[in-house]
Amino acid sequence: MNIIETNGLGKRYGSTWALRECSLAVPAGHVAALVGPNGAGKTTLLNLAVGLAAPSAGGVTVLGGHPAGSPAALDGVAFVAQDTPLYKNLSVADMLHLTRNLNWRFDQRYAEIRLGELGIPLKRKAGKLSGGQQAQLALTLALARRPRLLVLDEPVAMLDPIARHDFMALVLTAAVDDGVSVVLSSHVLAELERVADYLVLLSRGRVQVAGEVDDLLASHRVLTGPAAEADRYAERPVVHVRRGEVQAHLLVRAGADDPVPPRWEAHPVGLEELALAYLREPGAAALPGPTLPGPALPGPTLPGPALPGPARDRALPLEDGEPSEVTR
Ligand code: ATP
Repeated sequence: MNIIETNGLGKRYGSTWALRECSLAVPAGHVAALVGPNGAGKTTLLNLAVGLAAPSAGGVTVLGGHPAGSPAALDGVAFVAQDTPLYKNLSVADMLHLTRNLNWRFDQRYAEIRLGELGIPLKRKAGKLSGGQQAQLALTLALARRPRLLVLDEPVAMLDPIARHDFMALVLTAAVDDGVSVVLSSHVLAELERVADYLVLLSRGRVQVAGEVDDLLASHRVLTGPAAEADRYAERPVVHVRRGEVQAHLLVRAGADDPVPPRWEAHPVGLEELALAYLREPGAAALPGPTLPGPALPGPTLPGPALPGPARDRALPLEDGEPSEVTR
């Protein structure tokens, strides 16, 4: 079952497309990270998925096919917006009361136990809580609704490292113990590396990368070798080049079994490094899809045997993306 599915989804503000031709299928049971530079369209996508905005093109369904914003969707989706909106003049107890009256499945006991563990007093006004406590309260209210999908828009942006860690621990507990699917946007890549097992990377309103983290990591490698030969590497699509005086580091789309050219070393890549490389190369796309059998990519190659492989997939520049120095 897909927890979020979009088909040609687009959102336009005036003449500007905030999100464009977005087709995604995020399977249930994941903690999916939504990553992208400022203005990439993350909040727009999340707002469309929770029914807070209407698409200008295409469509979006959640929880295995319910239109976003429909009663069935609203019943199973909990959303914590970017600024963790709370009624600042209400006490924590009043916030629980209000949320309980609006949600028939609200689990008061769960909420009170969680807030007790966090040391958040029920009598305190929400506006008098620290930023971290407010975020924890908003998350607790969302989880006490017992959702099947939890959507979080930059939940840890304002939090110190300990509050951030505690917040993400609660999200992970909900995912692992209660089977809640999670989609969260964040700029804190190191945090995502710890929790995310699905990645969606947006660039300029379009999906640049989408897939299971394990698959993405297995299909990328960092090659380290002589800087002088970096420009001539054309065996596999290069996502990003980091060049020193002597050595160059190439993030390439290649599997563990792909041969490594002489004088080059291959290393596995981590999620943070992978995401950073794509963020630095908005024209490089690594969408899942059929790989095309065909001749070797044009251009001079490194000395040594050509890399074999049943297929060669190409990192295609996006339609309106700037051509990348290294994207072939
Ligand atoms: P950030 O990381 O800064 O939160 P984001 O990836 O969440 O950014 P969005 O907030 O979705 O990006 O914005 C995407 C684009 O749509 C931006 O160019 C933004 O200016 C534009 N946009 C978003 N909301 C509106 C709006 N209500 N009216 C006009 N333009 C908007």
